[in-house]
Amino acid sequence: MYPKMTINLTYYKDNVRYMTQLLKRQGIRLVPVTKVFRAAEALVDILNQADIDMIADSRIMNFKEMKTDKQKMLLRIPMISEIEDVIRYTDVSLNSELEVIEALNKEARRQKKIHQIILMYDIGDLREGIYYKADDVSWLLRIKALKNIKLLGIGTNLTCYGAVIPTQKTYKKLFEIKERVERIIGYELKVISGGNSSSLPLVMDEKLPSFINQLRMGEALVLGRETAYGKDIIGMHQDVFTLDAEIIELKMKPSKPEGKIGVDAFGHRVRFTDRGMIRRAILAIGKQDIGLDQLKPPLGVTILGSSSDHLIVELDNENYKVGDQIHFGLTYGGILSLMTSPYVEKNYVLSTNLG
Ligand SMILES: *Cc1c(COP(=O)(O)O)cnc(C)c1O
Repeated sequence: MYPKMTINLTYYKDNVRYMTQLLKRQGIRLVPVTKVFRAAEALVDILNQADIDMIADSRIMNFKEMKTDKQKMLLRIPMISEIEDVIRYTDVSLNSELEVIEALNKEARRQKKIHQIILMYDIGDLREGIYYKADDVSWLLRIKALKNIKLLGIGTNLTCYGAVIPTQKTYKKLFEIKERVERIIGYELKVISGGNSSSLPLVMDEKLPSFINQLRMGEALVLGRETAYGKDIIGMHQDVFTLDAEIIELKMKPSKPEGKIGVDAFGHRVRFTDRGMIRRAILAIGKQDIGLDQLKPPLGVTILGSSSDHLIVELDNENYKVGDQIHFGLTYGGILSLMTSPYVEKNYVLSTNLG
């Protein structure tokens, strides 16, 4: 069935191994993030065999079905309305609200568990976390007193909302937070969770400050690249996930629509230049599956537009015919939406010639 996504398990395994070893040499533990592929079992199985302690995801629903003996880390700050499931299905959660932490403590006591938390600090990216200049002393003392909560460490998240790139200067703020928190609570924090795939350039330059001992990574493992500058990492696979979509119409047609022009199927005004007759193909995939800017077409194929169920491309050669498939690379957002679409077949393969 098409559209068909091909997921190369060997490539993913290679990427996980490459990254665990790269980080290990610098005393950093990798926490792989599974949210982009909805914690698909075949990929989680690879993580089960890897040299890691924890698997991270942002959704409780993914943890409910996850089969693993690794610890489970919830990335998104818990909703008060899901606290019972957070305690039941996860071991560690990232947190930034005392109200939520108190609710976790109460529920953990009810379920006779100790729940571990990583307290998030915002050092400038402005997504989650206690703002680093805020007064957190009373919070820390309160958290320390909670019987069913263990403060495992502190963390930060960068290059998500504010596109702030991790640097040694930015990490100085986190170091000062670590020192202060340890002074207030009176013991050494076990985990300093320094960020995500955007911290990789510092790691590769051996400039990641040594107090950081954990990184949470999703994109680097599926796309073989860092996310601070978007560069591929040599030695990793960029094509763990690819897509094939089928051509259902292929005709020579004008490049410019004819008649009075209004708005397209999604209410957008569109503009065309007349480039004469062109070779146009329609593929059976659309916005319901993936946004058109999330597909990376092969050489000789240019994406012109899409509607809910159709993707229109221009072909600059005669190599294709109706019924053929076109093979696309994918962005992170593309993998996310295709994995979430029930209309897209998922084909898990092992690569035999590499490994
Ligand atoms: C998604 C997420 C990550 C992983 O980010 P990548 O860019 O995919 O490495 C790390 N931390 C948090 C809090 C996240 O939500």
